[in-house]
Amino acid sequence: MGRAFVYVILGGGVAAGYAALEFTKRGVRRGELCIISEEPLAPYERPALSKGFLLPEAPARIPSFHTCVGINEERLTPKWYKEHGIELVLGTRVKSADVRRKTLLTAAGETISYKILIIATGARSLKLEEFGVKGSDAENVCYLRDLADANTLVDLMQSCSGGNAVVIGGGYIGMECAASLVINKLNVTMVFPEAHCMARLFTPKIATYYEEYYKSKGVKFIKGTVLSSFDFDSNGKVTAVNLKDGSQLPADMVVVGIGIRPNTSLFEGQLTLEKGGIKVNGRLQSSNSSVYAVGDVAAFPVKLFGETRRLEHVDSARKSARHAVAAIMEPNKMDEFDYLPFFYSRVFTFSWQFFGDNVGEVVHYGDFSGSTFGAYWVSKGHLVGSFLEGGTKEEYEAIAKATRMKPAIEDLAELERQGLVFALSV
Ligand code: FAD
Repeated sequence: MGRAFVYVILGGGVAAGYAALEFTKRGVRRGELCIISEEPLAPYERPALSKGFLLPEAPARIPSFHTCVGINEERLTPKWYKEHGIELVLGTRVKSADVRRKTLLTAAGETISYKILIIATGARSLKLEEFGVKGSDAENVCYLRDLADANTLVDLMQSCSGGNAVVIGGGYIGMECAASLVINKLNVTMVFPEAHCMARLFTPKIATYYEEYYKSKGVKFIKGTVLSSFDFDSNGKVTAVNLKDGSQLPADMVVVGIGIRPNTSLFEGQLTLEKGGIKVNGRLQSSNSSVYAVGDVAAFPVKLFGETRRLEHVDSARKSARHAVAAIMEPNKMDEFDYLPFFYSRVFTFSWQFFGDNVGEVVHYGDFSGSTFGAYWVSKGHLVGSFLEGGTKEEYEAIAKATRMKPAIEDLAELERQGLVFALSV
């Protein structure tokens, strides 16, 4: 049994939705394109799962956040795919791929063949078991990667209201979930091994600002240690979290956000990998010319920094997907992907954006006792990264533009003095 398509997108997440829209804009014909996804629903804006979806009042629900509403583009419902003759093969896991034969084999036993494949398999949550801790399958322990996880989290928050929640991990998933748990009236303790939250991006000064606010909302931080085990009741529910430093926290529910691993396994040994992802060129094309990779799973050349990176951010998924489709549909016209790394988060009433790279020396600016502040990163005499909390649209655009231009910075003290004005005047 089998079906054949000209284009197949493997994975039905953010990148798949943006790729589908781009395909229609570039004249894909009915019946040519198929999206295969393990998830049972059409592509949606994954960042909503840790934000609007977790609100106690008027939470965001499907179909409101199908792609591509994240950039105020058309909302692609299942009807839209039907109307455009795009086949959605949902609730279907691909269990093996053969890039030489150009075929995918689904868990249901169907062979789907393609002329061009776009790998958009994203990433999966790292599990506690991978760090030697048992208990991920307990009914009051959850992760947050897909809609099923988000539904579990909402059910748990509702049933544990007023109780104790422990958040394992101090990255953005941990921070966004902790804020939502507070808003849903749980007592929250965050546990992570680093010295401060968002350690991969925040400076100690930036982290302190947010941590102080979280503390004012009742969140407790336990840093510099990790989870060692859970205590369970007779039904297998977690009742307490034991930490390596010997302390114990009572827990009615646990949220784990300890990182992700790109879904590359189907292609290991068939395509070149780098930085944990599928290595692609500036056209998002892998070591096999019929296979492209986009989004979290792709390791692509970031021209601005002259090196290959794998980014785990929604903007990169959207833009790499659109670029790959453009490169496929108009091969002679397309320039190389020239991407400015961009990442954002929203918690409580805060909202920040970051562009570029956080290497080199840091200069903070703005009012850290108020609501608008930021930082610049300067490496080898040039501006390479910019962070801004509480900016306006114009201010965010200005720091993005300034970062892309990589202006020479001679005087860090002067940059600090000018602050946001520097970006606005570049
Ligand atoms: P995904 O969106 O993960 O999609 C991958 C798809 O492939 C899934 O549907 C999966 O089921 C499917 N799949 C995988 N393997 C198979 C297989 N073998 N067979 C069939 N289907 C398969 N980024 C930001 O910049 N800012 C944010 O605020 C932010 N918030 C986030 C909040 C949450 C809760 C999460 C989980 C992520 C967030 N991100 C954020 C990151 C962003 O969502 C990802 O970078 C983006 O979703 C990557 O898109 P993708 O299409 O590459 O992968």
